[in-house]
Amino acid sequence: MDFSQTLIHKIDAIVDQWVEAVYEDEQIEATKELTFKAVRDSLPKVLTALATVLSESEKSDLQTVKDSLSQLAHELKTPLTSIIGYADLFLRQHRQKPELKDSYTNLESIERVMRSGRLILRLINDTLEISRYDAGRMILQPTVTDVRGLINSVVEIIEPLARNKELALVVDYDRVPDRVITDPLRLQQIITNLLSNAIRYTKSGSVRLHCEKVSEEQWAISVIDSGIGIPLDAQSQIFNPYFRAVSDRELQSSDGTGLGLAIVSHLVELMHGEIKVVSQPEQGSTFTVIFPLEAIARED
Ligand code: ADP
Repeated sequence: MDFSQTLIHKIDAIVDQWVEAVYEDEQIEATKELTFKAVRDSLPKVLTALATVLSESEKSDLQTVKDSLSQLAHELKTPLTSIIGYADLFLRQHRQKPELKDSYTNLESIERVMRSGRLILRLINDTLEISRYDAGRMILQPTVTDVRGLINSVVEIIEPLARNKELALVVDYDRVPDRVITDPLRLQQIITNLLSNAIRYTKSGSVRLHCEKVSEEQWAISVIDSGIGIPLDAQSQIFNPYFRAVSDRELQSSDGTGLGLAIVSHLVELMHGEIKVVSQPEQGSTFTVIFPLEAIARED
């Protein structure tokens, strides 16, 4: 019997033993209810998906393996979201209790759990997004879009990140075209990714967003930062999935996935646009995306 079959046969036993072990562990008393529910509800699905991925008989079929991995990623999202949610709740409750001030160092470990959880969740979401594109399931939904309003709402979300690093976040959309037809959700994704990268890779100075009509058929958004820049030999690779020009250690952070720009370039392609980067190490980078004024959904 291959390993996947064994796994399928043992799922109930694994879940029972897991739940039992969790109950016996005094250390996780506080989250007993959560742990039990999360394990009981989600683990069987995760194990089934894992068994499919491992299945010898289906290994030759690459598409099946890909589909199974997507399924596995989907199944991981639920328990992960609950881990992040409860860690967050736990942190907030404990921060409100002054008598627990001394245990702040312990809270740091929970914060680490939460940060890692968020990163894995982002990795899963980004991977699913790439696989949706590869499978031709990323579809545009163009509509008349209020670009100014959309930029304002993205900036509102991103602003705290810039404030934390004391970076000036400047928006200039005076010359935005009067009428743009695009997919607002996809546009929002592109701007969010470019702005968060600009902030992530800038230590001091500013991040600017500039938006204008460039011809009778096109408009453009540029995100300009005064950050670490990108070496010339890396510039052609940054749009490849999982490519990263700097390591977490150099950056002293751990929230990159290497997938953001790959997704952005897929979205730009879908919108029949074009993305360019001009960058100089230690000086900064400018990412410019040129879009048609009227995006057209692909005919299938
Ligand atoms: P990540 O999650 O690592 O930021 P991305 O796909 O968004 O992944 O970017 C790929 C790589 O391109 C990054 O790891 C970084 O090295 C480089 N990069 C992206 N944006 C910038 C920027 N604004 N300034 C400097 N480097 C950048």
